[in-house]
Amino acid sequence: MSKKILTAIKSFSNKPLRFLVNTHYHGDHSGGNENMTKAGATIIAHDNVKKRLEAKQRDGSFNPKEALPVITFNDKLNITINDETIAVFHVANAHTDGDALLYFTKSNVLHTGDTYFNGRYPYIDINSGGTVNGYIEAVKRGLMVIDEDTQIIPGHGKLSNKEDYKRFLKMLEALRTNIQKEIDEGKTEDEVKANTSLTKTYDDLGFGTGFINSEKIRLTFYKSLREE
Ligand SMILES: [Zn+2]
Repeated sequence: MSKKILTAIKSFSNKPLRFLVNTHYHGDHSGGNENMTKAGATIIAHDNVKKRLEAKQRDGSFNPKEALPVITFNDKLNITINDETIAVFHVANAHTDGDALLYFTKSNVLHTGDTYFNGRYPYIDINSGGTVNGYIEAVKRGLMVIDEDTQIIPGHGKLSNKEDYKRFLKMLEALRTNIQKEIDEGKTEDEVKANTSLTKTYDDLGFGTGFINSEKIRLTFYKSLREE
């Protein structure tokens, strides 16, 4: 995607590319890092993004230096550029252990990274430090900084707004309530996996038609909430 992104950036500015923020380490959100560094960008990300990108990769290889963040942060940082301040803030153990949201204070735009899948069940990467409760807290944090006019760029799905984002939160909380109840009643993983009534309301609204279907989301909630 990096060539396409660079072309899109050039269509509204000929100024050099200076900064790139990774919202988390997953390849579909950081795979262009090397190309972006070569195009002049300084990469910024949460500490854990750097840790994960500089570790040995699944195929046994290591990422080149150009693919790694140069500036990292633990909690939050502000970037003042193009006459506006961009607030970059970490949300703990949400989609992964290194998520950041970006709020463009003047443009009134929020980029959520993968802490928001518009109209779909989200992927919560439990093996990379993601948790259901952290994910829900991340959405609440995002909602706190925005207003009715904010344009929201989700990690996946169409451009969004506060109303859709609130509906997404309601879905997450409903699933948490339903599946926590099953856990409290001693239900097994297979029972929760098979029980479509737990997600039916949102299945019917099409939330299970993306990368994560209704069975996968019930399993994710079960596994994560059982640990928390
Ligand atoms: Zn992701």
